[in-house]
Amino acid sequence: MASLVRRGSKELLRDINNSRVLQLIATRGPISRAEIAKIAHLPPPTVTAIVSDFIDADLVREVAVDSSSIGRPPVLLALNEQAAFAVGVKLRQDGLTIAVTDLAGGLLYHADAALHERLPEVALRQVADEVHQAIQQAITDHSRVLGLGIGMPGLIDYSRGTCRYSSLLGWRDVDVRGCLEELVGMPVYVDNDVNMLAAAEVAHGLGRGVSEFLVVTIGRGIGLGIVVRGEIYRGAFGGAGEFGHIKIDSTWRCQCGASGCLETLTSDIGICAQIAQLQGVPAISMDDALALAANDAAVRSIFQRAGEVLGRSIGNLLNLFNPQLVIITGEGTRAGSMYLEPMCHAIQSAAFDVLAQDTRVEIQSWGDEAWAQGAASIVVHEMLKPPIYESLATGPLAELLGRRAGQATPRVTSRKRR
Ligand SMILES: [Zn+2]
Repeated sequence: MASLVRRGSKELLRDINNSRVLQLIATRGPISRAEIAKIAHLPPPTVTAIVSDFIDADLVREVAVDSSSIGRPPVLLALNEQAAFAVGVKLRQDGLTIAVTDLAGGLLYHADAALHERLPEVALRQVADEVHQAIQQAITDHSRVLGLGIGMPGLIDYSRGTCRYSSLLGWRDVDVRGCLEELVGMPVYVDNDVNMLAAAEVAHGLGRGVSEFLVVTIGRGIGLGIVVRGEIYRGAFGGAGEFGHIKIDSTWRCQCGASGCLETLTSDIGICAQIAQLQGVPAISMDDALALAANDAAVRSIFQRAGEVLGRSIGNLLNLFNPQLVIITGEGTRAGSMYLEPMCHAIQSAAFDVLAQDTRVEIQSWGDEAWAQGAASIVVHEMLKPPIYESLATGPLAELLGRRAGQATPRVTSRKRR
């Protein structure tokens, strides 16, 4: 259920204006007070008062400008990137990557750890321990951590912070947010891992300033992040983007339990299974598969066919969403041209008329820390959201401004563990 819109009040108006001004400084800074007043349609004294609060909270600072022009140079405002920090975690089947970033997404610290145990309570306890350690290592003022974003594979209900189902982790109906907020004592945001990567592209990647785009991840699975009007589209129940499980002409059984999923022919797991069958061995690693492909045309043709099948499906996405940009990323890109070239050709031929011509396709190789950085950028994104919903009334921005006024930092109330 969506959160209720807040009741109209002086406080709501103040919070919305605060958010408008901060967003302008974050996205268009350095910017002058006069420019903000003009764009936000706010009286200059209101802007001055809001900015003064931000400066007091050390969230915004005045910056020196080029004074070569005639007359008094305007004083410009920029976000103080070091004013606050966010933590992001990418949880995998066998491990986790953790990142601590500043407000601009700059990476201050990152680390990898193997997952000791996949049982939800034990795994989340380990995540909390790693978060505490990362904060200790990365920053001195721990009170300036806004929150934790965690991305994981599977069906995630973002508004409730629960993992409804993850075949890779073997989890069903796990209250990830409730459990972690109690352990780490800060706001926690839980999302599908591909959405976290899309958030990183929106905040500081190829998707910055692009309104409609898709992120297709290839690797162990095939994932999809959908960005519509600059926001991540999650669907009615958090299941949008389960691209790897659209049905194609395949008789192979998928790791989700169904047959004929796109992943069965095009993911690392699917490609390795086909090559193992060709070689008459029970299993083969991707490293070995890639080594074989160098000298074996039959192995190469499995990669080529996988690329074609994936490209055709991405072409169908172009027909459905008409994005400006498609970003292809993930560890699967290391198969290189034998996989990616047939994919690009198939995208062109599956797209309707000139749609593919107008869509840019970019291939990007990013490591796991980029996923974790994306998880942290969700926290910053939440801070900049207009706080029109009751659930955002005491969000990270209110916390930062509240701290300046000498109030105790509101912490998340503890909940009884089940
Ligand atoms: Zn499947």
